[in-house]
Amino acid sequence: METNKPITELSGIGKKKAQLFEKIGIKSLMDLVTYYPTTYEKGIGYSRIQEVKPNGTYLIQGEIMVAPYSKKARQVILTSTRIKDDTGEIGLTWFNQPYLQKQLKEGQMITVMGKASYKYEKLQLTSPKILTQADLNYYDDKTIIPIYPLTKGINQKAIRLAVASAMEAINNRIEDYLPDMIREANELISLEDAIYQVHYPQNDVVLNDARRRLVFDEFLFFQLGLMMLKDEQVRIENQYNFECRKGYENTLKKLPFALTSAQYNVLDEIIKDMNGSYNMNRLIQGDVGSGKTVVAALAIILAAENGYQSVLMAPTEVLAKQHLQSLEKMFVSIDLRIELLVGSMTKKEKVDTYQKIEAGLIDVVLGTHAVIQEGVNFKNLALVITDEQHRFGVAQRELLAGKGHYPHVLVMSGTPIPRTLGLILYGDMDVSIIDELPPGRKSIETFVVNDSYRNRVKAFIAKEIEAGRQCYIVCPMVEENEENDLKDVLSYTEKLKVELPPHIRIEYLHGQMRPKEKNETMERFARGELDILVSTTVIEVGINVPNATLMIIEDAHRFGLAQLHQLRGRVGRGGNQSYCILISDSQSVLGKKRMAIMTESQDGFYIAQKDLEIRGHGDLLGLRQSGMPTFKIANIVEDMEILKQAHLVAKTISEKRDILQEATYENFRKKLENYMETNMSFIAL
Ligand code: ADP
Ligand code: MG
Repeated sequence: METNKPITELSGIGKKKAQLFEKIGIKSLMDLVTYYPTTYEKGIGYSRIQEVKPNGTYLIQGEIMVAPYSKKARQVILTSTRIKDDTGEIGLTWFNQPYLQKQLKEGQMITVMGKASYKYEKLQLTSPKILTQADLNYYDDKTIIPIYPLTKGINQKAIRLAVASAMEAINNRIEDYLPDMIREANELISLEDAIYQVHYPQNDVVLNDARRRLVFDEFLFFQLGLMMLKDEQVRIENQYNFECRKGYENTLKKLPFALTSAQYNVLDEIIKDMNGSYNMNRLIQGDVGSGKTVVAALAIILAAENGYQSVLMAPTEVLAKQHLQSLEKMFVSIDLRIELLVGSMTKKEKVDTYQKIEAGLIDVVLGTHAVIQEGVNFKNLALVITDEQHRFGVAQRELLAGKGHYPHVLVMSGTPIPRTLGLILYGDMDVSIIDELPPGRKSIETFVVNDSYRNRVKAFIAKEIEAGRQCYIVCPMVEENEENDLKDVLSYTEKLKVELPPHIRIEYLHGQMRPKEKNETMERFARGELDILVSTTVIEVGINVPNATLMIIEDAHRFGLAQLHQLRGRVGRGGNQSYCILISDSQSVLGKKRMAIMTESQDGFYIAQKDLEIRGHGDLLGLRQSGMPTFKIANIVEDMEILKQAHLVAKTISEKRDILQEATYENFRKKLENYMETNMSFIAL
């Protein structure tokens, strides 16, 4: 049978079952055989009862000696029986499965698999799995058993049977699209072998070979797809001309600080882009406080002195206003017309600003989402910048770029992503990294404490405030919640007001407040009119209050490491020693490990790498919104080496584009085209 035939062609798969399979993305035979196991269990072979030792897992066949009986013990129902073979007897116990009483009869032969332990000095198997004949085909010899991800209505057995009959039906029909040259150079087995062996591996070596081939393919097409996109969509000829450099050079000279060499390097790259043959599509990745704003500001100046407009979009009003202040400070030696465009402006103010923008009376627009609204039209927009890009959707970034005629695009991110991951995630952008903090930054002393330190923490807050400093406290929830006992902003604030001396000024902030209220509170804190700001993570983004020296994070284990790092970055922005206190009662090993990483390092790239290693890529802040595809079999962390290998191959192919037209690449080209159509739509930066 052809590999693209629907699975209903297989005997045993009717309409109803096919619908269930469709829910997990399986329509064709090829879909079915590329539905890969997520893990494997080792078949263990039969044991005799006398061979059973505590803590081992055993497969045992025996005769039921007594009808099972149930009894209630505290919250659970225990169901027990005993089985025997000709070498001995052993007890079996299950939790909360009283129906087994009906299912198992005295004298019946059963096969069970489970872990042995002592109970009342006698060996027993606890919660053993009762195996059916179909299971036994897998368990009774020592092969490796595939375990597939399931959906309601489909069990392991159903998938195994379906995969087996599909494999048989398409025997010898799986074409290998990878040219022999690439296959051999990278020591990869054939596609058909790989697919067969990933379902039925004879041993670990074979399984590893199979995975390596399939993972390689996933990474290869993904990266090649991105590279192709980058060329097709983004490489538009440079529409602009940036000859004047005087204002730029002057500003550079008069900056209140010397740029770090990382900042210089990134500026170089930006200027090369802006003067290059194609328009810029660049991501600046830099840790919190690494000084991305000044880099953006210099690019803005370059545009402005050549007669072009720029726009910078930030996720919050406070941040936009802060940018206005810092740009005004930097732009002393050049006469730039800067205007703010934010949601809280009145209709009239907005319309006035729209008109000025359209007439070219404004050089730089700083704003929030307000800048991508319909009425906003530019006269000659050449540079669009998005700050804190992870706070914006792809669509919003596109709208912004759409405000100009193929403008240069600069995107800034304060979420450090491990380099190799950045390589694939932002494969369609050029990436600059600011991997150096301005000199003289004090490290933020970080502590992890549990609830028993609460009084000492309170005393510490009071002490910092007496010294004239300010404090952030972050809670995971907005209001009290019945489902969990996590700290919430509202009751926490009330409690603090009672517990701390009355002259300490405390306010709260959360995402459900009206934007106007939020801004006012934020600004009062920034002006030093508040001592403590109790907040959800809304303060995570970019805000700069140098007088704040204390960051306290409640239920800290509930946050991602990248997020904790961002939050911590809110302090340590002035000359005073700053502190971050992570309060966590997490007892889990993982939770403790994550907290320890925060005390170990202040390097966002390091933290992101560790976060990735322990949690996988799914939860990394910002990645979810970025449209990161989920791979079928590849794992970005564990398969990093294969990723690099595939990257090299993708690069070679994309550089020598013509080879795709050669006969040996025909199948490959078709597969790539197909892949681009079905998988690449998500990426639209
Ligand atoms: P981020 O990269 O997090 O956006 P900012 O651009 O807000 O960081 O910069 C953080 C602070 O560091 C600002 O107060 C800025 O003026 C200052 N800064 C930036 N570059 C330098 C430098 N090279 N030397 C000293 N201070 C710098
Ligand atoms: Mg910033």
